Amino acid sequence: MRDLSGDHRWMSLNTATVRKQGALLDIIEACARHGIRAIDPWRDQVAATGIERAAKAIRDAGLALSGYCRGGMFTADAARRIEARDDNRRAVDEAKTLGAACLVLVAGGLPQYSRPGSTPSKDIAAAQAQVEDGIAELFDYARTAGMALAIEPLHPMTAADRACVNTMRQALDLCDRIDPARSGMLGVALDVYHVWWDFELMAQIERAGPRRLLAFHVCDWLVPTADTVNDRGMMGDGIIDIPRIRAAVEAQGFGGCVEVEIFSNRWWSAPMDEVLATAIARMKTAV
Ligand code: ZN
Repeated sequence: MRDLSGDHRWMSLNTATVRKQGALLDIIEACARHGIRAIDPWRDQVAATGIERAAKAIRDAGLALSGYCRGGMFTADAARRIEARDDNRRAVDEAKTLGAACLVLVAGGLPQYSRPGSTPSKDIAAAQAQVEDGIAELFDYARTAGMALAIEPLHPMTAADRACVNTMRQALDLCDRIDPARSGMLGVALDVYHVWWDFELMAQIERAGPRRLLAFHVCDWLVPTADTVNDRGMMGDGIIDIPRIRAAVEAQGFGGCVEVEIFSNRWWSAPMDEVLATAIARMKTAV
């Protein structure tokens, strides 16, 4: 297990963590101020800046991209499936332009929430099947483009509106069916917030191995949690045994960034420099 206590060279900042405090270029400048060497930007932030301008700013700042957020939302009614496919292909192209390590995929839940305007459905099994078809189709496109896809299993509380892929086992089953050769181009983004509770977590990390572990996201689970999306904790403020999970991931040979990703009304109301300084300090003591 890497020793992170001395510096924060392995830290990446998911830019949603400070999205309310500034635009992407402000965040890139702040990363330079704080010696943060990698980010994972969101598509809306890149679009607001303009992709060429964003790519140049990232290059000029010498930043690596631990991922690009996000593709997915594969579930849609028939009228919106082409839209979903094309939108995901654009996400792959953008990830490539930006030089991202992988495109993070959030699967989508029921069609009416993933692609608003879709005919409402309660058929979660159909949604799961559609996700598999969508990832398989995108995988062909992404492999040709040379962009790895990282499926992020989300906590089951999000199954209706954000992701009906909810455990590491489920995500790895998809990977094994779509990419049985373990090409290294399809794997998982393990976010401790979503999977910490899973009694199979350690076994599934071992099953994943280095060719499936493409990204590692950290924050913390607060008790009580006030909001199911926007009340994530700063590392060390909650109940997730982050070092134990990181040790298991790194025991498999994962050597990538540890990405700080905090959606939090509390942290969005703090100054950007305070959030980054706190995250850097917690990387050394709580991760
Ligand atoms: Zn995440």
